[in-house]
Amino acid sequence: MTIQTLVSLKKQLADKSISSTELTQESIKRAEASELNVFITVTADQAIEAAKTHDEATPSHSPLAGIPIAHKDLFCTKGVLTSCASKILENFISPYDATVVNKLNNAGTISIGKTNMDEFAMGSSNESSFYGPVSNPWDLERVPGGSSGGSAAAVAAGIVAFATGSDTGGSVRQPASYCNLTGVKPTYGRCSRYGMIAYASSLDQAGTFTHTAEDAAIALNAMSGFDEKDSTSLNVTTEDFSAQLNNSLAGLRIGVPEEFFGDGLNNEVGSLIEDAIKEYEKLGATIVKVSLKNSSLALPAYYIIAPAEASSNLSRFDGVRYGFRAQDYGDLDDMYTKTRSEGFGAEVQKRIMVGAYALSSGYYDAYYAKAQKLRRLITNDYLTAFETCDVILGPTTPEPAFKKGSTADPMSMYLNDIYTVTANLSGLPAASIPAGFTQAGLPVGMQLTTPHLQEAKLLNIAHQYQQTTDWHTKTPESYAVSEPAVTTGESS
Ligand code: GLN
Repeated sequence: MTIQTLVSLKKQLADKSISSTELTQESIKRAEASELNVFITVTADQAIEAAKTHDEATPSHSPLAGIPIAHKDLFCTKGVLTSCASKILENFISPYDATVVNKLNNAGTISIGKTNMDEFAMGSSNESSFYGPVSNPWDLERVPGGSSGGSAAAVAAGIVAFATGSDTGGSVRQPASYCNLTGVKPTYGRCSRYGMIAYASSLDQAGTFTHTAEDAAIALNAMSGFDEKDSTSLNVTTEDFSAQLNNSLAGLRIGVPEEFFGDGLNNEVGSLIEDAIKEYEKLGATIVKVSLKNSSLALPAYYIIAPAEASSNLSRFDGVRYGFRAQDYGDLDDMYTKTRSEGFGAEVQKRIMVGAYALSSGYYDAYYAKAQKLRRLITNDYLTAFETCDVILGPTTPEPAFKKGSTADPMSMYLNDIYTVTANLSGLPAASIPAGFTQAGLPVGMQLTTPHLQEAKLLNIAHQYQQTTDWHTKTPESYAVSEPAVTTGESS
């Protein structure tokens, strides 16, 4: 089956071989037929109506106009359930759109619904959702990754060609790697966080799931930009991320950190990443050894900072202002306690407790303040490395997708984030792109990280690799399970 990309769908819409209504109907059909538990809400009527309006309007120049997409269920969508996969928001109908959603609506995309995720984006397996786990389309017994697992599965299974995600510690890149997709986390502040339900505000960033880097550039062009409603939004000149895709990589200096190839890295993953490095050498790049010597401090720092910020952010869910409220309670304190005990799942409660502890007086300096110092050391390592290289390359995760049931061993799940959390701690843009398959047929992703605000270069480096390799064109057997509405080529 040939992958459906934003580029190919736009062509078909432009030459009228398909209408937006037909395309949207097909996406909805696939979403409803899927057994992966990808969606929390499918907004079928709304989507068809928007597609019809698109088909009747004068043709738009936007490369995304008329194309069905899906949003992770932590982006606020006006008039639609926005649950963050939590019981505490099971009845929360957002009164407004997140800026990212608004921008994508303005670009003409048709949202077909909201994707499943780990509750409040906490997790790496998509098993902490109140709506149940999502399956990996490559192997139904395995996790799709988390926390944006529903969005990753939606693209990997051919339901939509693009879905939004959020990445606080790897939640776009890790599921992209487990599902054979291109997943991009831009520079912190590139996309507005307004209307994205907060997990850890200093780390959260919106991101993209697509098959190709070329498509990611199109999606990011529409999503990013300064927003005065987000005080951490970067007021930088808008760039065309598609403009540099075809630049030659001759002379590119690729930094390879030894710390990313040590203990804990699965052999098959390691050797596929070595192959990718050779491929880049063929494209004219030179390899430079770099050291990210404080990498071993990244997970401890992340798993203090993220829960600390989460404990503060999630204090707003108290049964008074939003969503669920416990039925039987005595006084106000009892109402808060019962609401939060019944409304939040186990992983979320655990993180609130860890975070509140780390922030409490007497412990603040020992934990939170210290973690912030480690964060600076980790960032400095990257800035030093970028003095001798243009991009840092390594595996996205130590292993391919693991089997469901990870919650039994949370520490090993947290270890999965070892290579991804550093980009969030340092605010750097990073992507995961398909780099091959294990003997067992599981996808493996490679991670590319560039200096702040160099998304155009990042996508150029990813795109050039995708011009000479075809890993990203491979699809699982379940791809496009219902009858495809569009003519597709030979099977992959
Ligand atoms: N797995 C990490 C966590 O559980 C990252 C999640 C994310 O990026 N949202 O915190």
